[in-house]
Amino acid sequence: MIIGLILHQLTLLKKNSLCGLTAEEIFRIIEPEGFSYRHAISVSNAIYKKKIKDFFQIAGISKKLKAWLEDNSSPGIYEPIASETSSDGTKKYLFQNSEGQKFETVYIPEGKRNTVCVSTQSGCRMGCPFCASGKYGFFGDLPVGDIINQVLGIPVSPKITHVVFMGMGEPMDNLSNVLKACEIITAEWGLAVSPRNVTVSTVGIMPAIETFLEQSGCNLTLSLFSPFEDERIKIVPAEKKYPVKKIISTLKNFQLTKKRRLTAAYVMIKNVNDTDDHLEELKKLFTDSGIRVNLLPYHPLNDDLSISSTVERMQFFRHNLVISGISASVRKSRGADISAACGLLASGLKTNKNV
Ligand code: SF4
Repeated sequence: MIIGLILHQLTLLKKNSLCGLTAEEIFRIIEPEGFSYRHAISVSNAIYKKKIKDFFQIAGISKKLKAWLEDNSSPGIYEPIASETSSDGTKKYLFQNSEGQKFETVYIPEGKRNTVCVSTQSGCRMGCPFCASGKYGFFGDLPVGDIINQVLGIPVSPKITHVVFMGMGEPMDNLSNVLKACEIITAEWGLAVSPRNVTVSTVGIMPAIETFLEQSGCNLTLSLFSPFEDERIKIVPAEKKYPVKKIISTLKNFQLTKKRRLTAAYVMIKNVNDTDDHLEELKKLFTDSGIRVNLLPYHPLNDDLSISSTVERMQFFRHNLVISGISASVRKSRGADISAACGLLASGLKTNKNV
């Protein structure tokens, strides 16, 4: 009986998981069996748009292809192992993939806009001291299928209008998988979400940012924390190798298509990065840049004595940036009571080594 179980597991391991593959890659798998690209499109539409978990539910393909897919592949869509709901309606999901990696996904409903925030790595190796995701270490890049499954595998999947890559991990540190995930999310044969509604966040890793801007039509957000180099190095260690001023000048010079949006996320910490000097430096950095500044409240970790800037101070910054000709807005905090807000995602990481 044990041998039977092991053989069953080995058979499952050999099967191609289709979630995370492009239509072209699905075609290459089924082509030797005599099936066409049109069949591959039917399969990818069924997985990415209809989220089918059973190949026999796919309309418009032959019984022969359904049976072949059943024997040789799996749709690759799986459910989270836990979830929590915030008092503001935000939901947080915990996933565990077949490799045992754990990672979190956040769903943020807001009027007609329903955003899913996906993780790109289990943990993070960037070591930003204020962030829970990096605190427990790095447990690996997430494969494309696990990134896409965070959109398909949650119960609220049909409602999603926007996708942001702002969960656990640094997306530019897993660039090839992130680029492919963006392709699948925006492709007609994929999830068909407009690139205008997909945003990837980074603390600033070059030359990955340039590659991302060249190869993807999605939006980019740069996490800033401080406009001063000596101060930013202490909060974002990547600053040492990739100074943010250089990154902003690259962004300024990058030929933007009309519909692509570049933003800077500025998390505001009381008496740390919300002084008048910080405001003046932000004005210098972003004047004539075409980059929008989003001001966000800070969420302290348990052992942190720092607190968020007040709403009044954040509005003061916004007002002064706007009258200086810089597009700016204050963003609300969501899901802080279930540790789903920016910088707080860490559930399951402490035990990741033991799974
Ligand atoms: S802020 Fe982003 S890059 Fe820094 S440790 Fe957290 S997840 Fe990683």
